[in-house]
Amino acid sequence: MDKRLNEKKAPALARGNGSAHIGNTYDYLPEELKRIFAEAGEPAYRGLQVFEALHKQAVSSWQEATSISKSLRDSLTEEYPLDSFKLKGSLKGSDGTIKLIFETKTKDLVEGVIIPAKYGPALCMSTQIGCPVGCSFCKTGQMGFSGNLSAGEIVLQFILAERYLKKPIESVILMGMGEPMLNFENVTKALEILTHTNGRQLSSRRITVSTVGFPREIRNLATRKHRYNIAFSLQFTSDETRKKYIPVARKQPLQAIFDALEDYYSITSADVTLEYVLFEGINCSNHDARALSYLARWGFSRKINDPDYLVDFFSSGKHMQQLFTRESFKINLIPYNPINTDYDDIGGRAASAFKSPSDDRILDFLNIIKRCGARVTLRKPRGRDIGAACGMLGRIDGNRK
Ligand code: SAH
Ligand code: SF4
Repeated sequence: MDKRLNEKKAPALARGNGSAHIGNTYDYLPEELKRIFAEAGEPAYRGLQVFEALHKQAVSSWQEATSISKSLRDSLTEEYPLDSFKLKGSLKGSDGTIKLIFETKTKDLVEGVIIPAKYGPALCMSTQIGCPVGCSFCKTGQMGFSGNLSAGEIVLQFILAERYLKKPIESVILMGMGEPMLNFENVTKALEILTHTNGRQLSSRRITVSTVGFPREIRNLATRKHRYNIAFSLQFTSDETRKKYIPVARKQPLQAIFDALEDYYSITSADVTLEYVLFEGINCSNHDARALSYLARWGFSRKINDPDYLVDFFSSGKHMQQLFTRESFKINLIPYNPINTDYDDIGGRAASAFKSPSDDRILDFLNIIKRCGARVTLRKPRGRDIGAACGMLGRIDGNRK
């Protein structure tokens, strides 16, 4: 259960004759802040000033927000502390990866990872405290679920990471703890805040939302103002095997997910990536490589199986080649990161059943996909020594109270 749902609202911002509940000031878009300030008897433009101070200037104390009057700075300092979500610690890996540990107001810990990359640092952010999905190979999934992060708490991971690094983060991947589609409103709001023209103005092309596969939310994301890239954690090419390791796969068949991804691509033209964690003896045979290549190119296309569709299609004078206008979705292979290590405190339950394949097998698998003509990349494991690689985010340092 999300115990944070019952949390009391923060005290009202009582100014002039009105009052408003604002809680964490990072949770709001400029329009909302303007309304809140207007309702509290302040001029509405103060709301925009506050948004710009938080997101464009990224002030670490209200007193730095010199565009705001001194008296308002003083009362904001008193009523709305900026440190309700803070950086609690960090760990540096030998490959340059940095794990950031954040503490929420409710003393829960969540993690983010800074990954050095060719075009500047990338940040892997969390969207929930733990994850309700419970995939058996994922450490976050094994730690259970304690609640959603608010939009502001998601945005603050970014702000605090830039403050820590003292340089800009160039791209964001929502691949930390949690399933973004199960915290959809807060996640999409956080992305709107990060990309806002009055704020940090991060390009939506530099943002990737990773999901284990929720068709309704995938389609919903396509209707947003910005086009975010999407990564689907496929892992297994058949529903039968997916259901064994990914509990939600029982409700979300691959056909429905691939249909939603096709729609997402045709609406947004954004990048769609298939994430495929390699587990020795489970999903990395030659047959699996070919099935994966096929899926990346054709999905579970309704079109090629549906005679009515084809008749309509050809009657409109179209050519066979126009049936598919896209190249294959990109496949991203991720060697399994062991979670039953020193960093693991779950006692190596189901997780110990998994192993990463040998380097030779991984290369063979990659080459078969290339020969099939699908686009494929291999993700180098980063931050394994500090428990910061994919799937390794979970309870560390004694963690949740
Ligand atoms: N819930 C979302 C986003 C967070 S998981 C999702 O599942 O997509 C982020 C990524 O870590 C996913 O692609 C997932 O497949 C991968 N992952 C999980 N456990 C892993 C492990 N033990 N080794 C390697 N990758 C793992
Ligand atoms: Fe949740 Fe993603 Fe981990 Fe599955 S892989 S448990 S969906 S965080």
